[in-house]
Amino acid sequence: MRLILLGPPGAGKGTQAQRLVEKYGIPQLSTGDMLRAAVKAETEIGKRAKAVMDAGQLVSDEIVNQIVSERVDAPDAANGFILDGFPRTVPQAKALGEILSGKGLKLDAVIELAVDESALVKRMEKRVAETVAAGGQARADDNPESFKKRLVEFREKTAPLSAYYAGTGELKKVDGMAPVDEVTEAIEAALMQAAES
Ligand code: AMP
Repeated sequence: MRLILLGPPGAGKGTQAQRLVEKYGIPQLSTGDMLRAAVKAETEIGKRAKAVMDAGQLVSDEIVNQIVSERVDAPDAANGFILDGFPRTVPQAKALGEILSGKGLKLDAVIELAVDESALVKRMEKRVAETVAAGGQARADDNPESFKKRLVEFREKTAPLSAYYAGTGELKKVDGMAPVDEVTEAIEAALMQAAES
């Protein structure tokens, strides 16, 4: 199964993706995670991406398209994957279509977690508090200033993906404000519906 999870930062994409990973045995391909790993490892890509990421802005399409194309070829993605955080712009969505069709693959569904934006800053603060309480370190971009920039980036560049995938007939919307388990159930229902169509 090949899926995209769409939604603003803090919508719960990561949590839901983890559950889908366990249920379907397919990997979650998060461009944010891949980029953070590159930053940590101080690779060439990591060095180019760090300042942009810390400021809450988008890394270039050229970089993310390349890392996704390579990651999709890894053996663990042979039976499918969940894309989290990619595509983030309509040009990236078009590039993804080309990347997949070049490999003879296609998407099964695009799931959008629809959320009330005013709740998102609170969710981010909760995530930071939980991470710190568990002895971890908060993400460099999980602070109110960067987070708000990420929301603006989302509104301007990523929100149009909803209309794009509605146009291709692949979009399924789920209420991301519902309790976590209900969101999971709604996603599973949407996936069954997609499989039948
Ligand atoms: P995320 O973990 O998905 O919130 O991503 C964290 C940061 O990584 C974003 O704020 C961007 O700077 C960068 N990033 C992740 N995915 C993409 C993407 N598809 N296109 C451009 N930048 C991205």
